[in-house]
Amino acid sequence: MDDYEPKFPNLPERISRLGELACNLWWSWHPEARALFYMLAGRGSEFKAQNPVSQLFEMDGSVLDAAAKDSRFLRRYDAVMARFDADVNSYQSWFYSKIRDPGMHPIAYFSAEYGLHHSLPFYAGGLGFLAGDFLKECSDLGVPAVGVGFMYPEGYLHQRLSPDGWQMNESESLDRSRAPICRVRDEDGQTLTIKVPIVERSIYFEVWKAQIGRVPLYLIDTDIEANDPWNRGISSRLYIGDAEQRLVHEMILGIGGTQILEALGIKHSILHLNEGHSAFAILERIREKVEKGSSYKDAADQVRSTTVFTTHTPVPAGHDVFSFELMDKYFGSYIPLLDLDRDEFYRLGRDSSNSSSHFNMTAFALRMSAFRNAVSKMHGIVTRKMWHHLWPGLSDGDLPISYITNGVHVPTWIAPSLAAMFNRYLGPNWLADHDNPSIWQLVDDIPDAELWHVHRLLKMSLIAVMKERARERWKEHADLNIIMASGMLFDPNTLTLGFARRFAAYKRANLILHDLNRLKCILNHPRHPVQIIFAGKAHPSDNEGLQLIQQVFNIARDPNYGGRIAFIEDYDEELAQYLVHGVDVWLNNPQPPFEASGTSGMKAGINGVPQLSVLDGWWLEGYIGTNGWAFDGANSGSNGSEESDSEELYTILERQIVPLYYDKDDSGVSSKWVRVMKESIKNAAPKFSSRRMVKEYALEFYQNALRHANETSLQA
Ligand SMILES: *Cc1c(COP(=O)(O)O)cnc(C)c1O
Repeated sequence: MDDYEPKFPNLPERISRLGELACNLWWSWHPEARALFYMLAGRGSEFKAQNPVSQLFEMDGSVLDAAAKDSRFLRRYDAVMARFDADVNSYQSWFYSKIRDPGMHPIAYFSAEYGLHHSLPFYAGGLGFLAGDFLKECSDLGVPAVGVGFMYPEGYLHQRLSPDGWQMNESESLDRSRAPICRVRDEDGQTLTIKVPIVERSIYFEVWKAQIGRVPLYLIDTDIEANDPWNRGISSRLYIGDAEQRLVHEMILGIGGTQILEALGIKHSILHLNEGHSAFAILERIREKVEKGSSYKDAADQVRSTTVFTTHTPVPAGHDVFSFELMDKYFGSYIPLLDLDRDEFYRLGRDSSNSSSHFNMTAFALRMSAFRNAVSKMHGIVTRKMWHHLWPGLSDGDLPISYITNGVHVPTWIAPSLAAMFNRYLGPNWLADHDNPSIWQLVDDIPDAELWHVHRLLKMSLIAVMKERARERWKEHADLNIIMASGMLFDPNTLTLGFARRFAAYKRANLILHDLNRLKCILNHPRHPVQIIFAGKAHPSDNEGLQLIQQVFNIARDPNYGGRIAFIEDYDEELAQYLVHGVDVWLNNPQPPFEASGTSGMKAGINGVPQLSVLDGWWLEGYIGTNGWAFDGANSGSNGSEESDSEELYTILERQIVPLYYDKDDSGVSSKWVRVMKESIKNAAPKFSSRRMVKEYALEFYQNALRHANETSLQA
C-alpha cells in the first residue's frame, strides 16, 4: 500500500523523488540529505524552518527546473536516493541477521507523544524524545515496527516571556498540508475515519501518517468536523488536566489506536507500551480475540505474553488513575465484550497501596504485560519498591520488573561538524557500529586542538543563534529586559554552563541561585568568568514552575550578574540541538530519586559536553570519574539538602571545573579539559545510544515474546 501523496506538482520528473524524501523524516538524521535540501534552498528560497515539505511547496517551478538540469545537484540527488533505498527499502539489517524471522508481524509501539523534529511538534518533553529516538533506531536496525500516537494540531505551546518574566503561551496550529505527514485513506481512496463506538457520544477521528525511515507512525486526529467541540478538543493538546477528557484521550489512544491497525490490516506480533497512557490497547487486543471466540483467560494470556510495558514515572502521584465512577460511564458497555464482570475488570487496575476506588493505569499495565521495565538501573530499584505490593510473595530484588537504560539516537543528536571529524579519525564504520565501545577508543587520536576548535565553533553558533533570536525580539519592540536577559553580552571565550529542562520544581533550576553572592563572584571572576544559559518551559498550570522561570529571569536581567546569565525563550528540539552541541558543561541537579533517567545529558555527552550532575537517573551508571562531575544530593526533600547540594555545586565549580577549563596553553587550548570531553564522548556514545537500548529491547524482550507469539499461533 503506497499512500504517499504527491504534494508537489511543480517537481520535475528527474527529481520527483525529492517529494518522497521530504515526507520521510529519514532526511533529518542524514546530513547528506539535509545538504541536498540546503543546496536547493541556496537557489532561491530559504530552507524554511528546516522543513523541506514547506520548502518544496513554496519553491518556484523555475528553480526546481534548473536544479533538475544541474549535474552537480543531480549527482548528489542520485547518491542520496541510492542511500535512502539501501536504508529504507531493503531487508538487510541487524534485526533480520539476528532474529531471522522475515515473516513476523511488526511490533506496535504506542506512545502519547513523539519528539521527532521541530516540524512535527507532537511532544512535551523527555518521554516524547525517547519515543521519537526509539522509532528512528528501529528503522536503522531494521526492527519491524509501527508507531501509534496523536498529532495534537492545536497543542504546541510557544513560550514568550512578559517584561516581568512571566511565561505567556502562544499556541501554534499545525498546518497539516505543510507538515511532513500524509493523510491515510481507506481502500477506496476515501479519508479513513474511525469511530470509537464505546462512548455515548461516538467519537470519530482521522488518521495521518509520518514516515520515520522504514517505520510508519500513525497519528490520531480528533479535531475534525464530525465531532462536537468537546470531542474535538481531546487530541488538540497534550496532557489535558480534566480527568474525563484524559480518560477519553487514553481510550482513543489505546482502543482507537488498535483499531487503526485493524482497519489497515496491520497485524502486530508484539504490543509495546511506552508509559501507561496507552494501556487500554491491551484491552482492545483481548476484545478482538474474545470476539473471535477465545475465552477471556486464553485471550488475556496470549496478549500478556506478547506485551512489553515501559514505565517512566518514579513518583506515585505521576501515574494516571481514574475513579470507578468515571470508568463506569465509559467502560460500562465495554466490559461485557471482554467476557468479564465489573469486579474482575476493576481488579486488573487496583492499586491497594493507594486508592481502592480508582483504576490505576500503571498497575493495570504491570499486571497485563509479561515484559516490564524501568528506564535506568536506579529507576528499576525505585519502581520495584513502588510496586512491590502487586507481588506480595516476592522480595524486592525478585520482582519481575527489569530495567533497560534509555539512550539517545546518535545520528540525530551528534553535531554535523563533530560527525565529520569522526569520519576522519574513527574510520568509515564508526556510525554504523557506534554501540561498539572499542571504536570510540580512537577518539584519543583526535588532536586536542582540533576537538577544542570544533567545539568552539559550535559554541559560537549557539551564541549567534541566541543573538539572532534576541534581534528578532528587539525588532518586535520587546522590552529591554527581555533582550538583556537573552545573552546579548555572551562571549565564546567564557566557560558556559547549560541548563535546559522542563521547569518543574523537582528539577531545581534555581539550585545554583541558592547563594547569590557566591554565584556573583563565580560569574564575574576577572580572569576566569562563567556564564550560564537557562531554557525550558513550565506546564501552563504549574505555578511553581512558572515562578521558577520568573526567578531565573529576574537574575538574568539584573546588572549585578554582568549579563552572564541568559534565559532563552521557547526551548524546543531546534534550540536543544544548539545547546547540547555548544555549551561547555551540561548542568543537571534534580532532587533524587525523581529523575527516572534523563536524556539531555546523554545528548550533551556524545558531543563532548560533560555533565555536572547529581547522582540520579542515568548518571549513576554514566559517571566513571573522568567524564564529568557528580555530587550526591543524597537527602532529598528538606531545605537542608538544598543548602548542602548547592554548596557541593559551587565547590565543584570553583575548585574543579573553572580551573580546569582555564588551564590553557599558549595556543589557548586546555588539554586537560579536552581529556574530559574525550572521556565523555567515549563513554556516552556507545553506552547511552538508542542503538544499545533498542538492541536490548529486541534481545531481552522482543525475541522472547516472538517465541511466545509463534507458539500460541501454532496452537490456535
Ligand atoms: C532531550 C530533550 C528533553 C528531555 O531531556 P531531559 O534531560 O530528560 O529532561 C526535553 N526537551 C527537549 C527539547 C529535548 O531535546
